[in-house]
Amino acid sequence: MEEKKPRALATQSAAKIPKFVRSNLSATLKAREEGKKVAYAFIMDGHDEIMRAMDIVPAWGESFSGLCAAKRDAEQYLQKAESENFSRSLCTYATCNLGFDILREEMGGETPPGAPWGGMGRPDMIIGSAQQLCDPRFKWPQATRHYLPDVPVFVGGMYYPPWDPQTDRREVEKFYVKYITEELRECVRFCEKVTGKKMDWDRLEAAVDLADRTWDLFDETYALRKARPTPMDTGDAMNTMVPITFNLGTQEAYDFYKELNAELREKVEKKEGVAEEEKYRLVWGAGLPSWFALGDFQYFNGKGAVFPAETTYHVAQPIDRLDLPNTSDPLEHIAWRLIRYYTHWYDKARQKPGSAPLVERIMEYVDDYKCDGVVFHSAFSCRSWHAGIILQAEVLRKVYGHIPILIMEGDIVDISSYNEADTHNRIDAFIETLEAYKNSRN
Ligand code: SF4
Repeated sequence: MEEKKPRALATQSAAKIPKFVRSNLSATLKAREEGKKVAYAFIMDGHDEIMRAMDIVPAWGESFSGLCAAKRDAEQYLQKAESENFSRSLCTYATCNLGFDILREEMGGETPPGAPWGGMGRPDMIIGSAQQLCDPRFKWPQATRHYLPDVPVFVGGMYYPPWDPQTDRREVEKFYVKYITEELRECVRFCEKVTGKKMDWDRLEAAVDLADRTWDLFDETYALRKARPTPMDTGDAMNTMVPITFNLGTQEAYDFYKELNAELREKVEKKEGVAEEEKYRLVWGAGLPSWFALGDFQYFNGKGAVFPAETTYHVAQPIDRLDLPNTSDPLEHIAWRLIRYYTHWYDKARQKPGSAPLVERIMEYVDDYKCDGVVFHSAFSCRSWHAGIILQAEVLRKVYGHIPILIMEGDIVDISSYNEADTHNRIDAFIETLEAYKNSRN
């Protein structure tokens, strides 16, 4: 399979990310000799600090599939999963991982040769969470266990209140917090059983505090992108999200955003932008990118279009903004933080008839980052999160009137759905729409 040349990056910090990903993977391979347990883990599941406090090494499934896609090396794993009757239209993060697991089991536990960056270590446990919306996140651990029958599984739900314009979120949040807190407690018990170690609650508290500070620093750092020209766009953010997404609760993640912050401040000072001439500012409204085609961000940049903000992987908000109730229970704190991350947009949406929280979030970025349009990416193999994209675009148009919107179509991992020439043609047409929109406003 052809390996794509890496995309040029606007920041030196983003260029350090491959080191993070490599070291996360190699930690899973070295864990056994270091006497640590490895857990298959999934993003935004609220288990980060629990794993860090218990010295459990997370093996991030979505990250590994994204890496296989970026290396254009996913096809062999997708085909392997297909040969076991997993449809390609299932989540390709899951099928890529499953294909890798099946191959490794067939090879007696040896990493399949040529696996990107040495592959992922075999897990001692699987710690999952469906985050309410995703059916593969429920079924993926179960399917994995079919091939790794000795590996115990914990899967939670991390439910948060669904959006209901008739209900004040405050009336229901506490029930969800109670549920999640108990689920996290169950997860701790599961980890204690598998590792044979007791949770160190002081260590957990310290990890939660570090995670809070990382959330604040991350948000403050990303807000520097409001500058014109923007010093970093979504193309780089799809890399700089790695520490907050996969290393939350570690000092390395915090230190990374310190460095990124300093770098962006310097760029703002020097007025160093992402595009040669910044003509159009866009919000990446939703959708995971095609990991094998990140160069498309550069194609946008070449047309003078930059992305100062995105909802995807902007997985942290300032802690103050969330107005979290005081609690001495670190698990309850994690639960409140997760719930309020979603629900704090509900109030704004209730004030605009016909709107929705995700749309309010996009409009907040359009206003705060002075953007001219919104781009979504609809990945065919994700039927949960990406399914709401067309609705979001419709609500945006209904509530906010004309605003140029592009919905790109493709996949996260499966390159067979991608045609570069067609994608670039659609971007070209969108740039013309943006130009006309800007002229009509001047
Ligand atoms: S949200 Fe979508 S991409 Fe993520 S695991 Fe679920 S189906 Fe896959």
